[in-house]
Amino acid sequence: MRIATLCVHAGMTPDPATGAVVPPVYLTSTYHQPKVGGHKGFEYSRTQNPTRQHLEEAIAALEGARHGICFASGMAAVDAAVRLLKPGDTVLSLYDVYGGTYRLLSRLAGPMGLKETYLTVDKLNAMEPASFPDVQMIWVESPTNPLLRIVDIRRLALCAAAKGALLVVDNTFATPILQRPLALGAAVVVHSGTKYLAGHSDVIIGALATNDDELAARLRFVQNAAGAVPGPMDCFLTHRGIKTLKHRMTAHCEGALAVARALSQVRGVSRVCYPGLCDDTAAAIARSQMEGMGGIVTIEIRGGRDAAMKFLESLKVFTLAESLGGVESLACHPATMTHASIPADVRQAIGITDGLVRLSAGIEDPQDLVEDA
Ligand code: PLP
Repeated sequence: MRIATLCVHAGMTPDPATGAVVPPVYLTSTYHQPKVGGHKGFEYSRTQNPTRQHLEEAIAALEGARHGICFASGMAAVDAAVRLLKPGDTVLSLYDVYGGTYRLLSRLAGPMGLKETYLTVDKLNAMEPASFPDVQMIWVESPTNPLLRIVDIRRLALCAAAKGALLVVDNTFATPILQRPLALGAAVVVHSGTKYLAGHSDVIIGALATNDDELAARLRFVQNAAGAVPGPMDCFLTHRGIKTLKHRMTAHCEGALAVARALSQVRGVSRVCYPGLCDDTAAAIARSQMEGMGGIVTIEIRGGRDAAMKFLESLKVFTLAESLGGVESLACHPATMTHASIPADVRQAIGITDGLVRLSAGIEDPQDLVEDA
């Protein structure tokens, strides 16, 4: 099945009891056992819930994975993936990852006995498998948040394989519609399903996907043991959102490209970051691993923080808010909002300046977005 068809049908089988085309939402914490141990595969909803299972099947199908595992938030999914490491192990991350991921790695990995080290996208893309450092996990986003830099996932997978490291790719920005990291060689895919997967800014949810049975079993153990599971209604809403994911991503990409092109002509904007309009090398990598350039545009406003604030407050169609990937367009100031948990000196060094504004194109008419921005 092609991906638009998978979006509609994956994980959706008519309810065997009634034939309902949309399976019921299993709002139950527990399951009747006619005799001890005589359950039907479901004992307690932290461990298994049919509505969550349907969603997990859909996410696995979209990512081309054998296993999908859902969590109460994207950060709970990040946390579960980091728990694949053991004390003494090192995780190598990009500097420009989501601020919450940076906070988790820089503040919580240490107490777990892990070591963390960071690189820029340019350095990571230039690494050779033979000279790659001895790390146990490589953590990347591509396109990165918020600067939309492109990581060469195929090449990095070769480096990971040479060192026996796990390559984890946060695919929140691209979604499986535009990029499937497991097919490019990643071991684990991460999602903040809060964003494009659910797509309507009404759910907090996270997910992991993998083809590795042993990793999946360990991640399922964390899911149950730590218990950061999503509720059935959130799973239902996310699954419903996924049905239109392909069409929403087409609209998000169209809106973002129109906004990026228009803002490239504006004198008050000194830099436009959008994967399709970036430098030639990055654009070539993006084209080789993505089927569309995504719905996010990040711009640098001349005049720094004050000018950025003025720009943000002038917007009418874009709503000033954290988050991204919903049907409505959102705008944020990464330095004080999504990336505030990254120390100021690190932010400056990697280019998250005070004049930076991140725009998430919704699915409104692109012309309205262009006129607003
Ligand atoms: N990964 C990325 C790329 C994100 O942008 C976010 C949140 O913005 C997260 C992970 C965390 O997800 P959540 O907010 O669902 O916990």
